[in-house]
Amino acid sequence: MRHLADLPSLDGKRVVIRCDLNVPLDGGRITDDGRIVASVPTIRYLVEQGAKVVVISHLGRPDGQPVAEFSLAPVAERLGQLLEQEVFFASDTVGSEAHGAVKAMDRGAVVVLENLRFNAAETSKDADERKQFAAQLAEFGDFFVSDGFGVVHRKQASVFELAQLLPSAAGYLIEGELKVLNRLTSSPERPYVVVLGGSKVSDKLAVIDHLLPTVDKLLIGGGMLFTFLAAQGYKVGASLLEPDQIETCREYLRRADELGVEVILPTDILVANKFAADAESFVTKASEIESSAFGAAAIGLDIGPESSANFAKEILEAKTVFWNGPMGVFEFQKFADGTRAVAEALTKVSGLSVVGGGDSAAAVRILGFDDNQFGHISTGGGASLEFLEGKALPGIEVLG
Ligand code: ADP
Ligand code: MG
Repeated sequence: MRHLADLPSLDGKRVVIRCDLNVPLDGGRITDDGRIVASVPTIRYLVEQGAKVVVISHLGRPDGQPVAEFSLAPVAERLGQLLEQEVFFASDTVGSEAHGAVKAMDRGAVVVLENLRFNAAETSKDADERKQFAAQLAEFGDFFVSDGFGVVHRKQASVFELAQLLPSAAGYLIEGELKVLNRLTSSPERPYVVVLGGSKVSDKLAVIDHLLPTVDKLLIGGGMLFTFLAAQGYKVGASLLEPDQIETCREYLRRADELGVEVILPTDILVANKFAADAESFVTKASEIESSAFGAAAIGLDIGPESSANFAKEILEAKTVFWNGPMGVFEFQKFADGTRAVAEALTKVSGLSVVGGGDSAAAVRILGFDDNQFGHISTGGGASLEFLEGKALPGIEVLG
């Protein structure tokens, strides 16, 4: 992979940089500017090199046409505040305003172009369409820097095709993400504990498959735990269950046993009578979900306190921890305790702690934790998981 240092002098040159500035917005207000903050170091470096910096990004899913609520205008404003310099915003992506703005740039200037996904070609399935759009973007630069880690698993015009049209390199954000994720796959300090949760077991099977040979312990919570309980022969009431994955889970448990990997499942579950914030709930043994008061109607919405304490203990004994997927339906306050316990434990790990996954990162912030309390919070949910699954990331491969 080519790095920023591999590029020749950027003084007075135009550099197009692909960032992932896809932040959550409430009206025009940015509710979490984490991704903008994470993009600043590379942009600042380019400015200091005397480059003319043209920032491109997507925001939300406008489906290939201009949609006012997905404008990058508020993002450009926030970027200006963080950089402490004027940032010009062009209200089109490859139109006359963008061209005018780029032409008028001085050394060290920063321009943000409007949302890439206002153009259908950005995410088109047709490689020729993507290439044409990438060629339009390439007109703005002498060089290309790829720094949107959240999109590197996608073959999109501004990620994949554009990198082939200009001399290109990875920025600091991508470099940093890969450095941390590489530590997880190549030489993790032991014990290495992986905590998996979230909703669907089928989303995470590939990660389990790939990580089993490298981890010491695998802790399983969230909606996916019920398919594992079913694989052990327990009845799970109306909890989230993927019957067609039971056999695969059983096979993983067998393989884990062979490899000497400890798979730790919750011993108690917080069950509810309905999927709602105000549901009635109580704690029951994981083996007795259906024989409890709610019977077959019982829905497991969080891991129980005994399991939370046990998970926390395992995490604290680890030297490397990767966590993906909330332990329960943390969006309902009553069912957030398991997720909070795991997050809390991660903040106290003496080695490397990594949080990956969009909802997990959001959960951590919603529950009031600070990014700095963790070793690393990945800016790319899907991208980090695909990396850990051992898949090639097109947006990285293309950088040589
Ligand atoms: P991430 O984005 O971090 O990879 P996922 O998208 O896999 O995480 O899963 C997040 C979702 O999983 C959350 O919205 C949460 O409500 C849900 N979830 C967690 N535990 C359960 C459960 N027991 N039953 C149903 N959904 C659950
Ligand atoms: Mg998610």
